[in-house]
Amino acid sequence: MKFRILLFPQYVRLMAVVLLLVPTAIRAQSAAKPNIIFIFSDDHAYQAIGAYGNKYAKTPNIDRLAREGALLTNNVVTNSICGPSRATLLTGKYSHKNGYKRNDNTKFNTNQTLFPELLQQNGYQTAWIGKMHLNSLPKGFDYWNILPGQGNYYNPDFISQPNDTTRYNGYVSDVITQFSTDWLEKRDNAKPFFLIVGHKATHREWLPDLQDLGAYDDVDFPLPVNFYDDYQGRAAAKDQDMTIEKTMRLQQDLKVNVNYEKDWTYNRFSPEQQKVFKAYYDKISKEPEAKKLTGKALTEWKYQRYIKDYLSTANSLDRNIGKLLDYLDKTGLAKNTVVIYASDQGFYMGEHGWFDKRFIYEESLKTPFVIRYPGVVKPGSQVDQLVLNIDWAPTVLNIAGTKIPTDIQGKSFLPLLKTNTATAKTPWRKDAYYHYYEFPEPHHVYPHFGIRTERYKLAYFYGGADSWELYDLKTDPSEMKNLYGQADTDKIVGDLKTRLKQSMVQYEDNEALEILAKAKK
Ligand code: CA
Repeated sequence: MKFRILLFPQYVRLMAVVLLLVPTAIRAQSAAKPNIIFIFSDDHAYQAIGAYGNKYAKTPNIDRLAREGALLTNNVVTNSICGPSRATLLTGKYSHKNGYKRNDNTKFNTNQTLFPELLQQNGYQTAWIGKMHLNSLPKGFDYWNILPGQGNYYNPDFISQPNDTTRYNGYVSDVITQFSTDWLEKRDNAKPFFLIVGHKATHREWLPDLQDLGAYDDVDFPLPVNFYDDYQGRAAAKDQDMTIEKTMRLQQDLKVNVNYEKDWTYNRFSPEQQKVFKAYYDKISKEPEAKKLTGKALTEWKYQRYIKDYLSTANSLDRNIGKLLDYLDKTGLAKNTVVIYASDQGFYMGEHGWFDKRFIYEESLKTPFVIRYPGVVKPGSQVDQLVLNIDWAPTVLNIAGTKIPTDIQGKSFLPLLKTNTATAKTPWRKDAYYHYYEFPEPHHVYPHFGIRTERYKLAYFYGGADSWELYDLKTDPSEMKNLYGQADTDKIVGDLKTRLKQSMVQYEDNEALEILAKAKK
């Protein structure tokens, strides 16, 4: 606190006023609307988090949120890539409704209602800080300070209001957290707030903070059971371009023999940063040659390096969540602030031999979601129902006591949170509808739609693949056996096709209905 006052004397007077107002403001708020912080990371796989069962990952702060709140085990995204997931967060609608289907250079249409605007109308102060990546400037936020596009891990640029770009020294997760607590300090204490903290971590290419280099070097990670998938019976899975073996690049992804002067990622490092970073990766760079790695041995080395870099990058993400939680504790805000942690989608940590996302298969279909809501959500709860990312906006609106517009496609899952629900009888959807579009670049994953129920998954890949897939998640949780067309599956396929079509009708995905009508049987 002292440090900040010394640095920013212009805030001294404001701070004095703020301090005077605090007790009244807190009293007023706790009687009424809770504050809400939505920490939104990028590409952070649920299976890379301690609370979701990863015994190696150092994620004490996400684990703490889960312990003090609820962990959702089946939070499904409706289109597993970055921009579309953010567009869905803001609208509570499927990609075909909000218009943002792909991560291309199209601008997100902000001439539609975005739920933070409704919070504003209901007396909330709103802010988005960090990664947004929608090719448009934020709307519905009183304050914003965002990364341009993907942003940089080191010494990142930020676009601030109205539209100025400034470079800041430091590691991106730290800078985002600093901006977040700075805003919390200077906000209007008389109003409740909604803050989105958009993290860049753990997006490719994974550049850990200097203090996290080598954090997992003593771990030999076990290969996923389906690491050597032969993709038999799955045309789209066979035709993708996202394997650790072939697609993952030694230099750009795994920092082997990087050209620090020419590569744009690295020439923004300070000499001191570069020295430490380079010293670590110079040692790593020698390994493939020194060990004469080829074939499977090289692929497995790449896998080890990938997991190490990825989890090390996540260390900084988690540490910064901890900083924010500490801030809430220190300021007394914690007891009236809902804290949500989610990623924009899941990610492959070597399952099927892959990295990246996109497919309807479990690792990229599901995303981590934990929520701490003091006094409402029982600590240590678990929600197993199928929650969709279209449900996030209406749930936040519901928590804030704000009316949910009828055209929002999701539903508030606050009732599930309140009843500690793994066994509850709260009525809830039984199907999760999914539709992915981006093809062929960058990873050659055929567009597809499908439905996931508690036990089964049915998907149709189009755009050239023209193939159906059926999985029984109970007997085949790693989705290796496509049962479509096999004996004894007619009844279940018939049922799933009916439910798939019903979902398309319900969510008004007319393009999908047309494709389905022409699909082979
Ligand atoms: Ca993402």
